[in-house]
Amino acid sequence: MQNNCIYLDNNATTKVDPEVIEVMLPYLTDYYGNPSSMHTFGGQVGKAVRTAREQLAAILGADESEIVYTSCGTEGDNAAIRAALLAQPEKRHIVTTQVEHPAVLNVCKQLETQGYSVTYLSVNHQGQLDLDELEASLTGNTALVTIMYANNETGTIFPIEQIGLRVKESGAIFHVDAVQAVGKIPLNMKTSTVDMLTLSGHKLHGPKGIGALYIRRGVRFRPFILGGHQERGRRAGTENVPAIIALGKAAELELLHLEEATARERKLRDRLEQTLLATIPNCVVNGDVTQRLPNTTNIGFKYIEGEAILLLLNKYGICASSGSACTSGSLEPSHVLRAMGLPYTTLHGSIRFSLCRYTTEAEIDRVIEVMPSIVERLRALSPFKNDDAGWLQGQEQALAHR
Ligand SMILES: *Cc1c(COP(=O)(O)O)cnc(C)c1O
Repeated sequence: MQNNCIYLDNNATTKVDPEVIEVMLPYLTDYYGNPSSMHTFGGQVGKAVRTAREQLAAILGADESEIVYTSCGTEGDNAAIRAALLAQPEKRHIVTTQVEHPAVLNVCKQLETQGYSVTYLSVNHQGQLDLDELEASLTGNTALVTIMYANNETGTIFPIEQIGLRVKESGAIFHVDAVQAVGKIPLNMKTSTVDMLTLSGHKLHGPKGIGALYIRRGVRFRPFILGGHQERGRRAGTENVPAIIALGKAAELELLHLEEATARERKLRDRLEQTLLATIPNCVVNGDVTQRLPNTTNIGFKYIEGEAILLLLNKYGICASSGSACTSGSLEPSHVLRAMGLPYTTLHGSIRFSLCRYTTEAEIDRVIEVMPSIVERLRALSPFKNDDAGWLQGQEQALAHR
């Protein structure tokens, strides 16, 4: 097993902060009590869970009673969508976007087979929504609007509060998948239009297997998982105490580092991006560069395959992604880039680099050093180097032969 890689795939998952591990460990060894127990042994664990809940609430500007722990971001998205529909059984319409995470898209697709109608809002070439299209889609029958805060593939940030004002007017519940936003953008639920918000521990230097759903006080909610009375009856199951403690610490550290870490990441990201654009011909940045997460860049390298770039980067110990882990191993390009209407020439050769607060200057220098030769090597093998029409034809043939 190797772990000395240059890790630039932080939108897929992150390293657990050593301080987080340290506070979590005693709850795997000595303090294994059940927080719901009557005895002091369990009670002290319950007290630690309350502290962790306050730490997590703080990064959202929320009240601790508005936090419900989940097993991951995916569960948060599923729970929010189902809850909003169960709470308003008379309404049968959902609004979402074409560029959501599969944790939202695949739920919506299934709901379409269960009598719901779903509007999938389009995005422009920069990956941005048309707020007029959103407004036109909202009706009295709309139960839920579920839209991500920031896109995991391109880093594009949606104008959530502008969207929220329109959603409020329609009377629908507003859920936001903020898995990529928490710890990267300052959030304050007190002044927000968001009703429910999903986050995930492993995207913010916490462990895998823990997430949370923020549910605004007063918003009608129906639990997705039924059983005991944990989480004020909103999510049954004995609490994942070590992971909850860890998520509290991770949130505290993210909030503490937010300003300085994101400024640093933005600087490193911009240097990486600008240098690659200057040294490699025929490449473009995908997404909205003015409204973007500070840690993410998605670059399209024309005429070559993203998977081939990743394999060569991997030989240098550099971890990046071709946008979506869910489509890896197939020729199918990312649904996000496709929705943006990117030309075929860049659709297949797009790479996402996502940084974190552990990313060093030397690591970025190394990527800047090796990328030009990787692209040159692959382009030398490409029969359609400077021929957009030829490339397109080749792609169509490849798809037809699958
Ligand atoms: C990673 C991710 C999820 C899923 O979170 P898990 O904790 O891995 O289930 C959902 N939405 C977005 C935008 C993500 O990036």
